Amino acid sequence: MKDLIQTDICVIGAGSGGLSVAAGASQMGADVVLIEKGEMGGDCLNTGCVPSKALLAAAEKAQGMREAGAFGIESAEPSVDWKGVNHHVHEVIAAIAPNDSVERFEGLGVNVIQAAAKFIDEHTVEAGDVQVRAKYFVLATGSSPFVPPIQGLDQVNYFTNENIFQNREKVDHLIVIGGGPIGMELAQAHRRLGARVTVMEMARLLVKDDPDLTKVAIERLTQEGIRFYEGGRDLSFTKENDGTISARCATNDGDVCVAGSHLLIATGRRANVDGLNLEAAGIQHSSRGVEVDLRLRTSNRRIFAIGDVAGPYQFTHMAAYQAGIVIRNMLFKLPAKVDYSAVPWVTYTDPELAHVGMSESDAKNAGKDVRVLKWSFEENDRAQAEKRTEGLIKVITEKNGRILGASIVGLHAGELIQPWILAISQKMKIGAMASMIAPYPTLAEVNKRIAGSFYTEKLFSAGTKKVVRFLMRFS
Ligand SMILES: Cc1cc2nc3c(=O)[nH]c(=O)nc-3n(C[C@H](O)[C@H](O)[C@H](O)COP(=O)(O)OP(=O)(O)OC[C@H]3O[C@@H](n4cnc5c(N)ncnc54)[C@H](O)[C@@H]3O)c2cc1C
Repeated sequence: MKDLIQTDICVIGAGSGGLSVAAGASQMGADVVLIEKGEMGGDCLNTGCVPSKALLAAAEKAQGMREAGAFGIESAEPSVDWKGVNHHVHEVIAAIAPNDSVERFEGLGVNVIQAAAKFIDEHTVEAGDVQVRAKYFVLATGSSPFVPPIQGLDQVNYFTNENIFQNREKVDHLIVIGGGPIGMELAQAHRRLGARVTVMEMARLLVKDDPDLTKVAIERLTQEGIRFYEGGRDLSFTKENDGTISARCATNDGDVCVAGSHLLIATGRRANVDGLNLEAAGIQHSSRGVEVDLRLRTSNRRIFAIGDVAGPYQFTHMAAYQAGIVIRNMLFKLPAKVDYSAVPWVTYTDPELAHVGMSESDAKNAGKDVRVLKWSFEENDRAQAEKRTEGLIKVITEKNGRILGASIVGLHAGELIQPWILAISQKMKIGAMASMIAPYPTLAEVNKRIAGSFYTEKLFSAGTKKVVRFLMRFS
């Protein structure tokens, strides 16, 4: 007979979403049990955001050495110590890990159980040698790499995000399958660290972003030496006698065969629902994950689902946002609902790609009569000083100036997008952005300049000139 724990809230999964619920709910006075079968911190800390950004930071330092010549400083091809880079990545993880640790959460009063959880009925979960019965459950079990059945894949070794950050060896030629954010970030990181890199994408590179902007990022990555193949078909792998891996596919420009030393599969994510016995709790799910309503309730109204396992956006900040919604529903009985009108995302290639709200095609598909504003980083003095003028900002507004969406490609686009998130979530008009005083010279001036361009046509029109000349006659 297993011990039975009765609690207010039982959270399954100690990643970005589950930790946010557990910390918030316990600090507000609820009794919380948190169950984690793997490492505390989940994907983001251990195999996702944190190691990937740490690797990109190392790669940026290497690239800086190559590009120093343009600034009158002797450039050099960096000598990369792959073990040292790996040490740096794990040092960053270790620096952040205490925030997500068992010790911290037990200190907050959370009962942490380190075991795999599975439902045994609508109100009870089993984990290790205990059973937990809770008033509410929160499923926050995340996602795993989706590895499609590709001919020959079972014959070769390959990386996914789950093991690539363990690599301490020099990578000579990395073949990346998948040109989404994960594939593109890791492709650039490895290229800058000295590897040859080939990216093969079966559809379009960075398909979720605006092609006007992705073009700018892809151009830069191509200049840095990454080879891209888009629209491939019939992908297959062969292990060659010399130990290399050949990746073959057909494209509209003919057949392609690339021989690499290492292979990364970055072809999407699948929700972690296996082994949870969701049927016992009456929780409906599909291949896209656990089905939830706008209050993030599953088909069992006492069980919520958040983060990657629920979607529709798979980001750390989304898991944290959804955690806030379920806390309001569970603890305060407020019918809080998700609002996805101002969801931002960033791809941390260099240049970065950042987006919030509606894209031009979203707005047009919604039948909206919009204005599309564009502004190039070439007009920005700070970008000139940094010699980083490849960049573009695009803003979508209604005819009356209400901001619907913004996308930026360029140096630090992830920082530059922040005021647009606020503007869209607060339903602001473009005049607010145009009238702020932006410090000179900053990259963020692109935000003010593009907002000002909304008025340029009217401001510099023949009508305005006529009015000004008339007023000047009487002054
Ligand atoms: C390479 C990479 C880079 C990324 N970069 C970014 C980025 O820059 N910015 C960003 O916003 N997002 C990024 N993401 C996405 C981000 O990591 C996820 O959106 C986020 O981690 C989702 O949080 P979560 O709580 O839903 O799941 P997770 O963080 O994955 O946590 C789920 C936890 O549940 C546990 N679990 C699963 N099943 C059970 C079970 N049966 N019993 C007990 N425990 C269980 C797992 O072990 C895991 O610890 C990246 C992802 C990857 C792969």
